[in-house]
Amino acid sequence: MADLKTDVRFIKGVGEQRAKVLAKLNIRTLRDLISWFPRRYEDRTETRRIAELVPGETACVLACVAAPPAVSRVRKGLDLVKVRAVDETGALDVTFFNQAWLKNSLRTGETYVFCGRAEGNLLRRRMTNPVVEPEGRREATGRIVPVYPLTAGVSQLVLSRSVRQGLDACADILPDVLPDEIRRDHQLCRIGYAYENIHFPESGEALDLARRRLAFEELFLFTLGLRRLRRRRETVEVEPFRPVDMGAFYAALPFTLTEAQRRCIDEALADMASGKPMNRLCQGDVGSGKTMVAAACVYFAVKNGRQAALMAPTEILARQHWEGLRPLMEPLGVRCALLTGSSTAKEKKVLAASLAAGETDFIVGTHALITGGLEYRRLGLVVTDEQHRFGVGQRAALAGKGDHPHTLVMSATPIPRTLALILYGDLDVSVIDRLPPGRRPVQTSFVDGSYHPRIYKFLRKLVGEGRQAYVVCSAVSESEEGDDRKAVTEYAAKLQQEVFPDLRVAYVHGKMRPKEKDAVMAAFAARETDILVSTTVIEVGVDVPNAAVMVVENAERFGLSQLHQLRGRVGRGPWQSYCVLISDSRNEETRQRLKIMTKTADGFKIAEEDLRIRGPGDFFGQRQHGLPGLRVADIGCDAQLLREAQGAADALLERDPELKSCPATAERMVELFTEAGDTLN
Ligand code: ADP
Ligand code: MG
Repeated sequence: MADLKTDVRFIKGVGEQRAKVLAKLNIRTLRDLISWFPRRYEDRTETRRIAELVPGETACVLACVAAPPAVSRVRKGLDLVKVRAVDETGALDVTFFNQAWLKNSLRTGETYVFCGRAEGNLLRRRMTNPVVEPEGRREATGRIVPVYPLTAGVSQLVLSRSVRQGLDACADILPDVLPDEIRRDHQLCRIGYAYENIHFPESGEALDLARRRLAFEELFLFTLGLRRLRRRRETVEVEPFRPVDMGAFYAALPFTLTEAQRRCIDEALADMASGKPMNRLCQGDVGSGKTMVAAACVYFAVKNGRQAALMAPTEILARQHWEGLRPLMEPLGVRCALLTGSSTAKEKKVLAASLAAGETDFIVGTHALITGGLEYRRLGLVVTDEQHRFGVGQRAALAGKGDHPHTLVMSATPIPRTLALILYGDLDVSVIDRLPPGRRPVQTSFVDGSYHPRIYKFLRKLVGEGRQAYVVCSAVSESEEGDDRKAVTEYAAKLQQEVFPDLRVAYVHGKMRPKEKDAVMAAFAARETDILVSTTVIEVGVDVPNAAVMVVENAERFGLSQLHQLRGRVGRGPWQSYCVLISDSRNEETRQRLKIMTKTADGFKIAEEDLRIRGPGDFFGQRQHGLPGLRVADIGCDAQLLREAQGAADALLERDPELKSCPATAERMVELFTEAGDTLN
């Protein structure tokens, strides 16, 4: 008897060969297979007559092959098969590229379905590379067909046939994880119907029903999981932190904290003194001063005899935090250490020993802090910077270290409300809604490439005044992308040799070794470089107050939130700062999008606009959002559905906190969170 964990190669009709192919897509189990949802669909239900074909439109025709196909070899590697097909209304010339076998399978006098984009004109109709199949055996036409995400060596047909076999194999065993009542109350279709129709929809309406049901299910399970995380935390008791005289810490700062910073700190300190593990998000736009909130919390924890860890998403950031915080913390008696991927084995060993012995109070690092097998003696606080780069799972994994440490999550990405509800449904939130005083808004302009000479002149002037500049490009090397991107290395060389031979130009990109990257960033921070050409590795968090210009080449290739992050790298000092977005794009939508940047500095507005335009997948980078099990639900658009699902989940938990009445639901929820690396049990 098959279950959803069955290896796909045991599914009837799939077999070893196809299983190998499917493995390329990480499809290994029956569940993987039926959960490989189509990316989009093509409606091939309608069949037209040849005379009804409209050039430019995609349609199917039933037509009879009028003469034997003609094969010609245009050159090596390019074969053409041409065939004329007719119906009672006219003739269609069909050309196939490199499908020579069709010569033998298309038989004169037989009727086939041709489905493709009509070309030509009303007198002479043509199709190139249509989908073709015999009238009597229609598989890829005559209905709405799924279009799956693929990889090299896997075809649509192999995939849809395998999915078909998979669905047939589990028709009777699909457990419905939605309790009947909830299904009825929210008018959701049954699980079998949903899986069938998400792959092979009978109609547009059926597809909508299927999608709604599956999206609801995802959001519902997800909410249950988040609620459980929260509840588990709330039932945990930890030793409350004692009050600490924070005066010494505040006195050591080179500036007075803003009211917003103080409020966030007070909220976090109150959490840590409450006897329950803190689980707080500190949200604040770029430059709002989140680091000091973190530092205050670290100080508080360490003065309570605990260890604190600060985790950054990149080496550059980790090092920068370390370099910024160590001079502040060490004089206050906090013993600091840095761990990155480029620490040597010996350094790591020494560090691990000192952590385990409790001789290090505060450790800064990348995700090596959780994956590095480190033992803490008394870990009391974990701060995660720039949260959206870490998954919910990683957050939980870190929280699982030691004995329920307090967690503080810092996010610079202003997140639209619906997303925040999902991403941070298990967190309390503090918002830093003011920038430190004296900041002047970054002057942003949007120009085309013809402005380069003027921009260079401007850079030279600012460097003359002692400032530094960033120039951001979108790729590492031109050859790699094979297009016109201003690639980092080439562009840096060009700037150095042709434009600014007398200035100091450096470059940094993500493919460099961490040590090299760090060296370049350190030199820039020490003002040994005037102009830093880079990819988006500097996007997150890097802080060089003397940098006053951010030039972005090919700005159309970046998302608005990304541009906002980039812009946040300047305007950190007392000088007027500038951001110049360069794009030659003629696309009106793109231009409108970029113009938004010149009009607002409000990260939330920008994020919402970004989400609206690009959808959440791109917002986080494809499949990067790290949310367990959200494949169908569109967290940008399904806000209403999310509210419904959350309502249903809360009502269920109210009635049945342990989910005793619906074991399948509980099991699936745990499974989803476990797959994502979370520990729900
Ligand atoms: P982000 O919220 O983006 O992480 P940072 O913590 O890096 O912001 O702070 C941005 C800059 O503002 C840093 O140079 C920091 O030293 C400075 N800063 C932080 N708080 C204040 C403050 N209250 N007054 C003046 N400058 C501040
Ligand atoms: Mg920061």
